[in-house]
Amino acid sequence: MVFHTHVYHARKLNPNLDKLTVIGSILPDFALTSAISWDDLHKKSGIVKFSSFVQETNPEQRSLLTGIQYHNSLDFLSHIAYQGTHGYAYNSITEELVSLVSKAFALDEQRARVTSHNFIESAVEYYVLQEQRELSFIVERTIAAMDMPPLTAMLATYYKKPEKEIATHFINFFSLITKYDLAKSDSWVPFWNDLSQFLFQRESNKNFIKKAFQLSLSLTKDTYKDFLTTAVSITDTEIVDSN
Ligand SMILES: [Zn+2]
Repeated sequence: MVFHTHVYHARKLNPNLDKLTVIGSILPDFALTSAISWDDLHKKSGIVKFSSFVQETNPEQRSLLTGIQYHNSLDFLSHIAYQGTHGYAYNSITEELVSLVSKAFALDEQRARVTSHNFIESAVEYYVLQEQRELSFIVERTIAAMDMPPLTAMLATYYKKPEKEIATHFINFFSLITKYDLAKSDSWVPFWNDLSQFLFQRESNKNFIKKAFQLSLSLTKDTYKDFLTTAVSITDTEIVDSN
């Protein structure tokens, strides 16, 4: 799922989130940058290993792990298993969407299918932000108020990367999250154009992005509420592979 949907979900499960839990709920998608891989905080083994490291070496930052757990359970429903299907987002994809996404980013069929699931999730994010406009401000305020050096230092130690490199990736990641008002449908074209640079390091076709996003809105409009209701009703937080 996309950033604000993760925070929406985390807040439903725990209305009094601290800053680290909010950041934790979006941290696995830090993989959009090259700071960490998609497996690092989406696969069970990576999460378990990282969690032990935090508990042992930086217990004061352990509420980050609660956020990562929330992220994990929502992504599991979106990617792996939801109501007897292979995940809500993958199950909502149509061939027409795959074709539009393929044209938008010049992707082969398989990569277009994977990226199509992100479009479905983008549409859910848009609907979530219509319902809870304040999520944008909560995320913005949390990022602005977050004490980044300890988190940066911890990730640098764990992933064996220079602190400066992690800090730069955080700036890019947070800037992508806060740059556009994603409650406005027009924002999704420039957002995806930027995201294309992160994901594929290439330019995109804005006309096809627009069509893919519009189609995703119609593919999700009758189902996203059920998905969110199901997601917030699951309080079992056992870590699983979520991609
Ligand atoms: Zn994720």
